[in-house]
Amino acid sequence: MPPDLHDRAGIGDNPGKRGYHPGQRHRGDRVMAAGSPRGLARPIVNVLMYHSIADGPGPTAISPAVFARQMAALARSGCTVVPLGQVADWMRGNGSIPERAVAITFDDGFADFIPAAKLLVGHGFPATMFLVSGCMGGHEAWQGAFTPPRAIMTWADARSLMADGVEFGGHTITHPSLPALEQGELMREIVGSRDAIEAALGVTPSAFAAPYGAVTDAVRGEIANAYDCAVGTVLDRPRGGGDVHDIPRIEMHYFRDAARWEEFLAGRGEVRLRVRQTLRRLRRRLS
Ligand SMILES: [Zn+2]
Repeated sequence: MPPDLHDRAGIGDNPGKRGYHPGQRHRGDRVMAAGSPRGLARPIVNVLMYHSIADGPGPTAISPAVFARQMAALARSGCTVVPLGQVADWMRGNGSIPERAVAITFDDGFADFIPAAKLLVGHGFPATMFLVSGCMGGHEAWQGAFTPPRAIMTWADARSLMADGVEFGGHTITHPSLPALEQGELMREIVGSRDAIEAALGVTPSAFAAPYGAVTDAVRGEIANAYDCAVGTVLDRPRGGGDVHDIPRIEMHYFRDAARWEEFLAGRGEVRLRVRQTLRRLRRRLS
């Protein structure tokens, strides 16, 4: 990211803080170094996962009204929104992270992100969008796509969003399930999407998201060779020392209810998160 965009990404100068209660300000601003001595509170970091911001059925669509409410609550919460790269750096033990930090990510490059991005810019929130490079300017054309398929942004849209401070990551060329591919195809999807983004936007993407969150150790190894970090769909919080090529995320579809989201932001959602993790593991074991 060029330095000017990095500045605009809002590290340490988050216009979203305007609405904070003065009494909360010092907490949101306190910075925790990686590897803090035992006994000090560890930072609470969450990476949010979105897909489409539109009215529609299914877990990959969140309505614009709900999204606006979620972002307004985040701005009021005292959490600091940071770029995904800062989370990865902190996990590696490089640099610090605010005591309560959030990174915002979107998968698939849907065109309905464009108005959503204006809202993010208004709050001063940085965000990362994972692009399916072979679908740019077209429609979703993969397993699980909507009928009718939803529109994907153009490269020109992406360039304009980049000027607004949005960061782009790789999400393959055609959105396949990576573990099913033979080696040549696997490399093409992982490295080819990185190169396509670099060619179109002039910036080498540093982050990757595997379609459907589907990886094996071998797939993750290839991702790690091509990208600095990668997000998964593991429902959890990132931790210092954790795997930066499997950064856990929180599914925002689960937080469409305003009260539930505000409870989570206030740090009271821990029990719910653990219950949901357990249910998810059980379902996986049974399916
Ligand atoms: Zn996807």
